Amino acid sequence: MTIADLVFLNGEVVTVDERNTIAEAVAVEGNRIKAVGTNEEVKVFIGEKTKVIDLEGKSLLPGFIDSHLHLTMYGVNQQAVNCKADHIKSLEDILSDLRDKAKETPKGQWVRAWGFNETKIKEKRYPTKEELDHISSEHPILILRTCGHISIVNSKALEIAKIDRTTPDPEGGFIERDVDGNTTGRLVETANMAMNEIASYTEEELRKGMKTASDHFISSGITSVHDAGVLDTDNFRIMQQAVQAKDIRVRVYAVICTLNDSARFVDNIMSAGIVTGLGDEFFKIGPAKVFTDGSSTGPTIATRQPYTSDSKNFGILYYSQEELDRILGEAHKKGYQITAHAQGDRAIEMVLNCIEKALDEQPRKNHRHRIEHAGIASADLQERMKKLGVIPIPNPPFFYEFGESYVKNYGSRVNEMYPLRDYIDNGIIAAAGSDCPVTHYDPLFGIHVAVNRKTASGQLVGGRQRVGVVEAIRAYTWNGAYASFEEDMKGSIEKGKLADLVILDSSILSADPENIKDLSVHMTIIDGEVVFQKQSRPVSSSKG
Ligand SMILES: [Zn+2]
Repeated sequence: MTIADLVFLNGEVVTVDERNTIAEAVAVEGNRIKAVGTNEEVKVFIGEKTKVIDLEGKSLLPGFIDSHLHLTMYGVNQQAVNCKADHIKSLEDILSDLRDKAKETPKGQWVRAWGFNETKIKEKRYPTKEELDHISSEHPILILRTCGHISIVNSKALEIAKIDRTTPDPEGGFIERDVDGNTTGRLVETANMAMNEIASYTEEELRKGMKTASDHFISSGITSVHDAGVLDTDNFRIMQQAVQAKDIRVRVYAVICTLNDSARFVDNIMSAGIVTGLGDEFFKIGPAKVFTDGSSTGPTIATRQPYTSDSKNFGILYYSQEELDRILGEAHKKGYQITAHAQGDRAIEMVLNCIEKALDEQPRKNHRHRIEHAGIASADLQERMKKLGVIPIPNPPFFYEFGESYVKNYGSRVNEMYPLRDYIDNGIIAAAGSDCPVTHYDPLFGIHVAVNRKTASGQLVGGRQRVGVVEAIRAYTWNGAYASFEEDMKGSIEKGKLADLVILDSSILSADPENIKDLSVHMTIIDGEVVFQKQSRPVSSSKG
């Protein structure tokens, strides 16, 4: 019998195996889990060189898997003005931070802010282009809304992008204009995406951002991420090199998607012959993805019934059914896993139509096609997901920050939004994601909101969809592994799986559900190696 490198005893081991076994002890050898069981069963693997950790009743969980976030965008955001910072109460606070940023930024270079949400500041409005021009006419300035789908820029940025009053609106978005037809600086959906591509980052900024992001994720127990879309093609290359250089320590399942014109990127990757599943345990090519509609808070999602807040508004669509069928249908035919960003029920329906047609024309078992977000997942849509074997990727933490706006914009439809309870009861495997930087990446925060479904102010939204703690943990572990075809190697604490583990600072199962978000991570292990150990908690954006 061989000896373990690492043994954990006296723990609350939430294995997330098929029977949701709670064990006491775990042994690790190399990068694999060697044994799981009682203290007595695992102690036999302790030898002279074994490092033994007494968990003293703390929870030991499989490393968290965030199935939808934007690693690079979060990372580079840390170098920009953060509109979600605690001290930001008004527009003036944001403008003041931008002024400071402009002072330290060489002329001609971009000054950026992220996380802007007009409903969270005193004035309840966007800044004007003129207010931004007042900060600088020599720096391009870009403020990105929290959803990532809308931005406001100054005149210098418009000049660089060659946008003026004669520029036509792109398909799937618009350049906002005032009553006289002049640009206001506000760019929506594809117009915003195109501007973000122009406002590109240097390779150095990107590398620095990726390392920051990975460090922060690891400190909250995340061991794998599904990167839901890169800024551009270069970003895709740099991310792979950052994984090789170990600047990125979390395992990456890289969704084939650029934020601007993803269909073109999907085409390029397909013609290069790079297919879903290519890679290794640290970096793997994921599904081909396009956007079909907008953001749940914009609000710009494509709905079947008009918005509760605006009886003429049904949101926006990026593609016609025929175009979507062509782009993703082609990817399906070539053997890719496919997915699409779809928030509104009208967009979800289109994606389901597309998947159904693709499978009709070319049946494939175990395709694991996904739908990112799947915001308003009404009963009829869930039925089709189940029948087609589609994996929705809901975002539980959204309710904390956006819950009130959902009630305002979508009314009772909020009861069917990100419906975790329904998914479990209907036998649909749903993998959770934070959509960071849209919300905080902390999986314990996501689990907290999945269990409580309350907004920051304490309002219950769609309370019927609340789930139990272990169910929520599963959405952030095993289900994520399943969504990337990797449940045989990770996602639960079982013999032979990768030693990706997280230790909390106390017991999650005996914690008051209302306080789950206040738990913290004690230690994170990836590939059998301790990559984070708590000293003091790293400073990052507020999780509320
Ligand atoms: Zn996203």
